[in-house]
Amino acid sequence: MDYRAAFRNALDRVRSEGRYRVFADLKRHRGEFPRATWTRGDGSTSDVTVWCSNDYLGQGQNPVVLDAMHRAIEEAGAGSGGTRNISGTTHYHVELEHELADLHGKESALLFTSGYVSNEASLSTLYKILPGLIVFSDELNHNSMISGIRAGKREQRRVFRHNDLEHLEQLLIEADPEAPKLIAFESVYSMDGDIADIRGTIALAKKYGAMTYIDEVHAVGMYGPRGAGVAERDGMMAEIDIIEGTLGKAFGVMGGYIAADRVIVDAIRSYADGFIFTTSLPPALAAGAVASIRYLKEHNEVRVAHQERAAALKARLKRAGLPVMPSVSHIVPVLVGDPVHCKMISDILLEDHGIYVQPINYPTVPRGTERLRFTPSPAHTDGMMDELAEALEALWVRCNVKRIGGYAA
Ligand code: PMP
Repeated sequence: MDYRAAFRNALDRVRSEGRYRVFADLKRHRGEFPRATWTRGDGSTSDVTVWCSNDYLGQGQNPVVLDAMHRAIEEAGAGSGGTRNISGTTHYHVELEHELADLHGKESALLFTSGYVSNEASLSTLYKILPGLIVFSDELNHNSMISGIRAGKREQRRVFRHNDLEHLEQLLIEADPEAPKLIAFESVYSMDGDIADIRGTIALAKKYGAMTYIDEVHAVGMYGPRGAGVAERDGMMAEIDIIEGTLGKAFGVMGGYIAADRVIVDAIRSYADGFIFTTSLPPALAAGAVASIRYLKEHNEVRVAHQERAAALKARLKRAGLPVMPSVSHIVPVLVGDPVHCKMISDILLEDHGIYVQPINYPTVPRGTERLRFTPSPAHTDGMMDELAEALEALWVRCNVKRIGGYAA
């Protein structure tokens, strides 16, 4: 076996589909978010505006968060030194779990090293706790949820069409009425920016005796009066059985979690390999997350500013005639429709215009729906939006991107 040739072939495949990923090397400067310095492969640099950060609110630069992290490093050192069970639980971890439980109005919360791990570990563990469990999963659920759900046998998994409650109900009707059931879905879908009907989903869950699991990764910090997410905004938080979130996006730090009744959290804590067998988060990250969550609980004006900026960007891009996809959230996707143009536009924006937005290609989104996904923060100015709109307008003509029906302004 020529192992090297196999690796080269694998790379050639992604390259030939225009999906080979190149990471932009960014140097940040404290207090200047969303500006950064981009370093090319040859070592030369340019200043750029970052348009695709999931640090949606700029909390990763909030002095309140940074000071909390500095203090925790001084006090507790760098790493946690172990798994949660073996010396890796500090009072910062405990405090953060209390803070998260309070945020979501739940009895308990459990920290994981990332949002990815929290989904994968929690969902896969539910099959151990609920024998015969059937999971009903929205077809656009994130890879981390799918990965956890795939721990079940084929007959334990049902996929419903995206946000299609009629289809979900049909699948619920067809399932064994005696089997334990879980509906797994997201609130804000990160690539289209659409939002689930939480109320309708809960009504179906109640009717058919199912539990509910919601991923609020792209909503926590940003929706609801205290930043607990769309379920809080819609007054449905108490009705959801398990809420999952990240500390790595709007909270600006890193880590993932679930919040639920004590008995649910305790059982997942006791069975989830992805929780048990890994070193816990550094204490300083936990301290930064506590500071960030508290800050956003009390600063609703950040959320108001964020929504205003997102609306302003959508309006500005539509005015430029660009095919803004119909998002109802802070996410602003612009459809390109093929991977080659998507990458080309992204490359030219970076090289010629000092605008950084990563192309979003298959498998992150379906083929033919390749797009640029803009994430405006409260720190993105009107001037930055004008620059972006003008550059895109010119590039759409220069690259001869076809206007795709339906989304054009
Ligand atoms: N869920 C969704 C919907 C996501 O988009 C992501 C990350 N992009 C995750 C979970 C994983 O979260 P994290 O980045 O904290 O691992």
